[in-house]
Amino acid sequence: MNRRTFLGLLGATSVVAATGQAAHAAGNHHFEGHPGAKGVLFDATLCIGCRKCEEACNVVNELPRPEKPFDDLTVLEAKRRTTEKDYTVVNQYQTSRPGVAFRKQQCNHCQEPACASACFVKAFIKTPEGAVVYDPTLCVGCRYCMIACAWSVPAYEYDEALSPRVMKCTMCHPRILEGKLPGCVEICPKGALTFGTRKELLDVARQRIRNFPDRYVDHIYGEREMGGTNWLYISGVPFTELGLPGDLGTTSAPELTSGALAAVPVVTGLWPILLTGVYAISKKREKQEKQEKEAAVAAALKKAAEQAEAKLAAELEKAEVANRRRIEVEVKNAVEQAMQAKGTDSEEEAQS
Ligand code: SF4
Ligand code: SF4
Ligand code: SF4
Repeated sequence: MNRRTFLGLLGATSVVAATGQAAHAAGNHHFEGHPGAKGVLFDATLCIGCRKCEEACNVVNELPRPEKPFDDLTVLEAKRRTTEKDYTVVNQYQTSRPGVAFRKQQCNHCQEPACASACFVKAFIKTPEGAVVYDPTLCVGCRYCMIACAWSVPAYEYDEALSPRVMKCTMCHPRILEGKLPGCVEICPKGALTFGTRKELLDVARQRIRNFPDRYVDHIYGEREMGGTNWLYISGVPFTELGLPGDLGTTSAPELTSGALAAVPVVTGLWPILLTGVYAISKKREKQEKQEKEAAVAAALKKAAEQAEAKLAAELEKAEVANRRRIEVEVKNAVEQAMQAKGTDSEEEAQS
């Protein structure tokens, strides 16, 4: 089964499960992207394969440090893919031009993401800022997103026994919300990565291609592939020479999905949806129970703190009263002693 058939079947089963009957898609309307959505332009003619972007990504996302340090460029000799510990990797390619070329790989933040299309619990969402982000609390671990992604980007925490997650580049969404640059863009010493709105980036890319026709191939990868992506690429060699698939077409994942809907029988693939649906419900319930437990613990702690505070105040008050009494008694005794001493002195004076 190829990725297109998979997306079609998946879309069909998702909709069937939701409606109880075969359904037609809402339509083949192509989403043009959120206005002002951000993205990154990668210029392969400027990249020197220094791996500084990999290191910055590792730091800002607090990922485990790799075995080999980031300044070890021998790792470029083998082709690597993104993993749950490496949201981005830089690979080296022998191309039709003299020398080698490099390409940085990460999530492309599709305008209409196949991963989100394949995820029936909506653990992946396309944000208005352009980033495709993931909510591990919703994920049921079916890993359909991994099969659906045309660039094999999402990776799974197979070694994580209790709560494995799907891991991928977030376009540094939290940093973008704070007005900061993605970590990799900020660090790149060669300006091979440019951050901006998708529209601005397309203008920059077109201008570079127009100004330097001998340096670039006349193609912006990601402008149309799979309905368009927010991570865009320009290069001096055909993109297939940089390991990017060239046969993806321009149809987005939801459109591919809708095409197969009417033809798929109700029973096809329904069972995985039911099974994972049951799992999803139990996971949701677990989450709810956890929240309720946390709320109960917080309330109990608050009550205990209030009671302790009241008890302390009462004890302080008691101690204050006792102290005052003790001082009064001491003062009284001192006065009496002084009076007695004065009386004795007077008697002695009278006798002498
Ligand atoms: S930091 Fe920039 S120049 Fe260095 S490998 Fe990454 S993209 Fe290329
Ligand atoms: S590149 Fe893959 S993981 Fe990233 S948004 Fe697109 S489909 Fe999802
Ligand atoms: S945008 Fe952020 S998460 Fe994505 S590759 Fe760059 S540093 Fe890593």
